[in-house]
Amino acid sequence: MLLKYESRDEIASLLSEQDPGKIEIIRSAAHEVLVRECGDGVFYRGLIEFSNNCRSDCYYCGIRCSNGDVNRFDLTKDEIVESALWCAENGYGSVVLQSGENSSESFISFVCDTVSTIKKRSVSDRLPDGLGITLCVGEQSEEDYKRFFEAGAHRYLLRIETTNPDLFRSIHPEDQTLEHRIECLKRLRRTGFQVGTGVMFGLPGQNYEMLADDILFFKAMDIDMIGMGPYIPHSATPLITRKRQFKIVGDALLTVSLLMIAACRLVLKDINIAATTALQTIDPQGREKGLSFGANVIMPQLTPVDYRKSYLLYDNKPCLEDTKEDCRNCLSRRIEGVNRVIRYNEWGDSPHFMRRRRI
Ligand code: SAH
Repeated sequence: MLLKYESRDEIASLLSEQDPGKIEIIRSAAHEVLVRECGDGVFYRGLIEFSNNCRSDCYYCGIRCSNGDVNRFDLTKDEIVESALWCAENGYGSVVLQSGENSSESFISFVCDTVSTIKKRSVSDRLPDGLGITLCVGEQSEEDYKRFFEAGAHRYLLRIETTNPDLFRSIHPEDQTLEHRIECLKRLRRTGFQVGTGVMFGLPGQNYEMLADDILFFKAMDIDMIGMGPYIPHSATPLITRKRQFKIVGDALLTVSLLMIAACRLVLKDINIAATTALQTIDPQGREKGLSFGANVIMPQLTPVDYRKSYLLYDNKPCLEDTKEDCRNCLSRRIEGVNRVIRYNEWGDSPHFMRRRRI
């Protein structure tokens, strides 16, 4: 099979592939590009979901502000720093700090203070520059992105969710716009961050052509990293009522999730791609499968177990009871099981970012 994946139609046809033999050819081509462009290492980013307070009301998300059934929490600075230092001691080279949307001055300065404390306290012989820090705290002003960067964060993840204007509109309230999200991605890039974005698959009304457009958008924006995953309904959100419009479901959702990873690897080549928790939610081996389709980043759960149950973006989130030690042991077995090497004590920056900086 000739693998062409430059136009919307070629990518959409790749994404809709159902034939197991052809899927294996795509998988193996993606793996080859991964090894050639990035090596076969897998990098850890310990994920700390530090606050579920959120001003946004996204129709798909379990922690949306209108969901009154959520126990709202904020981790203290000490709790976050302690989890991050556990990562440093256990060889995870990087952490991701994620939260709901908040732009108050106290929130911004809390994040800056926490980032700079983690940076200072995680320096060791093994990590001479401290932990690598990725932030995932939503849409903010350019000024505040600069403050985060100066505090020591150097990667930022802000998903576009979908680049289709009508679909974006139908899953968000009026005050959230696609244009503003794109503007935020540009702000992050100007600030100097390694910029990550991503989408969800299986949204109501979404089809393969829209997903192909998403990949072309990642390319046009010259993105450094991708974190994406299947949309998984949450029972207390408005989108659940549009169930009849879910076009990509069941096995097809797992297949398209893996093919999206492969297609991003084939089109964008030297970026970092995460195999996310949502993938594991729809298949117990989802993350390992994601790795074999071209992903190279895993985000082990670090959120303290007591709070994890209150950070439910979707139903059936896995590993709610697993301690960080359980997670570490289980993951290393799983990753070695697919013949990949965990690269401990490394930031694992996006090769794409390193190359574009040199030009
Ligand atoms: N407020 C931050 C972090 C939000 S949660 C931000 O906006 O960046 C991180 C991601 O979880 C979202 O970007 C969204 O893509 C994903 N998510 C939310 N609800 C989901 C659901 N029901 N199924 C799958 N992924 C979901």
